[in-house]
Amino acid sequence: MSILIQGGTIITGNHSGDILKDTSLLIDNNRIKDIVPEDKSTRNTDVEIFKASGLVIIPGFVQTHVHLCQTLFRGLADDLQLIDWLREKIFPMEAAHNELSMYYSAKAGIAELIRSGTTTILDMGSINYEEEIIRAISETGLRAFVGKAMMDVNDIFPGLKEPTKDSLKSTLALAESWHNTYNDRIKYAVAPRFVLSCSDTLMRDAYEMTNDFTGMLFHTHASENLVELETVRRRCKMDNVEFLHHLGLLSERSCLAHCIHLNENEVNILQATKSNISHCPSSNLKLGSGIANIPRLMQKNITISLGADGAPCNNNLDMFKEMRLASLLQKPFHGPAAMDAKTIFDIATINGAKALGLESEIGSIEVGKKADITILNLSHIQNPYSEQSNIYSSIVFSSSPENVDSVMIDGKWVYRQKEYCTIDERDTISKASEELKKLLDRL
Ligand SMILES: [Zn+2]
Repeated sequence: MSILIQGGTIITGNHSGDILKDTSLLIDNNRIKDIVPEDKSTRNTDVEIFKASGLVIIPGFVQTHVHLCQTLFRGLADDLQLIDWLREKIFPMEAAHNELSMYYSAKAGIAELIRSGTTTILDMGSINYEEEIIRAISETGLRAFVGKAMMDVNDIFPGLKEPTKDSLKSTLALAESWHNTYNDRIKYAVAPRFVLSCSDTLMRDAYEMTNDFTGMLFHTHASENLVELETVRRRCKMDNVEFLHHLGLLSERSCLAHCIHLNENEVNILQATKSNISHCPSSNLKLGSGIANIPRLMQKNITISLGADGAPCNNNLDMFKEMRLASLLQKPFHGPAAMDAKTIFDIATINGAKALGLESEIGSIEVGKKADITILNLSHIQNPYSEQSNIYSSIVFSSSPENVDSVMIDGKWVYRQKEYCTIDERDTISKASEELKKLLDRL
């Protein structure tokens, strides 16, 4: 059955930045079939009509760095720098996961992502129970690249690692089972955690795997924290990104989270290899890691996208907060005109799609693209009252998940008029609390 989203203002996010008023969107199966003025929309009886008059229709947000496995740990790991945060809190708690705690951690995270308008994520799991994350994603309807964290070295917390060949073997098995499944909604990204938790062999062989699967990505953390950087320098005799390049791991298939501390040579390497950077401003501030010089990277035409990172270093998975912060953060350094609202909106949508190699499928509202759509109600008291005001400014600086009315992914409603369609919210909250309690008992 087709769905007609009737009337409303469509922010297409296409090349010309078209904003179409009083326009309808016809969805057929999982794709956008037509975009027509409201008065020309079909009255075919076989169509579900969704009245969107007064609402704003945008491409769903794309977050390129998330850890669904950590959602339960929110509020349990505050006020620490990265290495201590991992050693004292995150690694032990990840090691204490079982199937059910992993499933509900993922499900709670997905519920939060969906109700704040995110339709696609690039997720890094833990070393175990990746199937439970995939199960939650498949059931809830989210679009995602998934990847178990690969770790065969761990001087920080030796309890969380596995032999090199086991990590590679299980990664390959997951990729073979899940890459391009659920109507291509679920794809795989090999995910060595970071240089400090991986042998050179693990890193190289993981990247090598991306050659064997069309559309697979390489996802890791890089140059987030100064202690991390010093340790990499001691071990590898070069800086972090230089080392990744030395191992041959950088290309347009690579998505690196953070990239805060970069030397000039590394910036040039990222540009030359067309690597993608996932900027996580809340996480970078909360862990005291630093502030990535995003305008400098964008000047080099490096694709910048956004991610909330994990719930315990943010402590939200809300793209509105990330967008606002990503803009405000740069203004004291680069002037008030830096990172304007339209630039940030593009970073949160089409740039995310680009980073994932999906820009021909998602990231904007265009005929033929997949129907990943977020519908906003901006007629709240905090929004501008004039037709003349900048709608991007309203979304980036003044909106919040409260403004999200409905969300569609792959042509299916996952959130409709403020109700979840695929998630039992109460049950998820109560099971997530129960599983967290048991996980803490296992610690
Ligand atoms: Zn991360």
